[in-house]
Amino acid sequence: MSKNYKQVPFAAIVPSPTVANEGMVTGNWRYLRPVVDKEQCTKCRTCWMFCPDACVSYSKEEGVDFNLRFCKGCGLCSNVCPVGAISRVPELDFDE
Ligand code: SF4
Ligand code: SF4
Repeated sequence: MSKNYKQVPFAAIVPSPTVANEGMVTGNWRYLRPVVDKEQCTKCRTCWMFCPDACVSYSKEEGVDFNLRFCKGCGLCSNVCPVGAISRVPELDFDE
């Protein structure tokens, strides 16, 4: 085995190659923003598992949150949410 091989413990959480990379910052082209209804959310974290840009975070206090610097607005989180808690809202509806 190569000496450079790094063994990763089972079920380890490793730094995301996406949100650690400034080259992956979303510009001004996302036209739909994910918005979670915290009342509906069951905290199952399916959206966290499926986001291809690793920009869904979860905490006990805040529940689900989106890192909009990296969110591409693809809508996958919204599609996989089992209770339909994530809406896709046009960016033009927000002031910032
Ligand atoms: S819209 Fe896409 S990129 Fe943005 S949080 Fe959802 S799954 Fe991730
Ligand atoms: S998939 Fe839906 S219900 Fe599950 S944590 Fe995400 S927003 Fe909440």
